[in-house]
Amino acid sequence: MPEQLDELLTACDVLGWYGHEDLIWGHAAVRDKGGRGVWMKSSGFGFEEMSRDLLVLVDDDGNILAGSGRRHIEFPIHTEILRARSDVGAVVHTHWPQVVAFAATEMQLRPISHDATLFVPDRLARYEHGDLITTREQGEAVAVALGDRPAILLAHHGMVTVGADLAEAVVTAVMLERAARYQLLAAAANPDFTYSDDHEAVSKREQHFTRGNIEAAWQYLQRRLHRERRRA
Ligand SMILES: [Zn+2]
Repeated sequence: MPEQLDELLTACDVLGWYGHEDLIWGHAAVRDKGGRGVWMKSSGFGFEEMSRDLLVLVDDDGNILAGSGRRHIEFPIHTEILRARSDVGAVVHTHWPQVVAFAATEMQLRPISHDATLFVPDRLARYEHGDLITTREQGEAVAVALGDRPAILLAHHGMVTVGADLAEAVVTAVMLERAARYQLLAAAANPDFTYSDDHEAVSKREQHFTRGNIEAAWQYLQRRLHRERRRA
C-alpha cells in the first residue's frame, strides 16, 4: 500500500511539473490493491502540492474511506472506468489546453509523429458531452465511449488516459498532449498536412511503445523533474 501511494504522489508531481496548466483541477488515481476503491489526488490543490495525507481512498459511491483531503466531484471518471476495465490499474484526467483546443477542432487525430501512433489507428475515443462527470451514469458513459482504448477526448472539457499502472497512464497522457500539440501546429501551417499510413503507424507503435520504453520514459520524466527541482 505505501508503495502505491508513493507512486501516486510521483504521478501527481510529474503531471504538475509537466505543465497541466489548470490550477487545482485535474486528477490521477490508482486502483486500491485491497479492492476498496480508488486512491486519488484530492481537490483544492494543484498536482504538485499533493502529500501522502491529502490522498483520498474513494469507493464507487464516492465515500471517502481514508485520507484527510476532499474528493474531486469527478471521481466517477476513475471509479467507473476501473469498474469497466479489469486491465486498467490507473487513470489520469487533465484539462490540458492543447488537448481541449484539439478536441474543439473535431479533427481526427492523425499519426504525424511517433506520439500519436499510441492512439491511431483505429481512432482516438471521444465523449461529446462537455459537462463535468459527476454521476455514475456519466462515468459509465465515458467508460463505454473509451471502450478498450488507452485514451479519450472529453469535448469542451479535457482528456482521460488509462494504463495498467501509473507509469503507463501518465506516459500515455504526456503522449496525447504532444500528439494534439503537434497536429495543431501542423494544421495551422497547412490544413493538408501529411501523416503515416496505418501500416507505418502500427509498425511505429510496436517499436516505439514497448513496455520497456514506457517504463524508461516514466523514469526519465522523474529524473527531469528532480533535476529541475535541484536547480530551483
Ligand atoms: Zn474535468
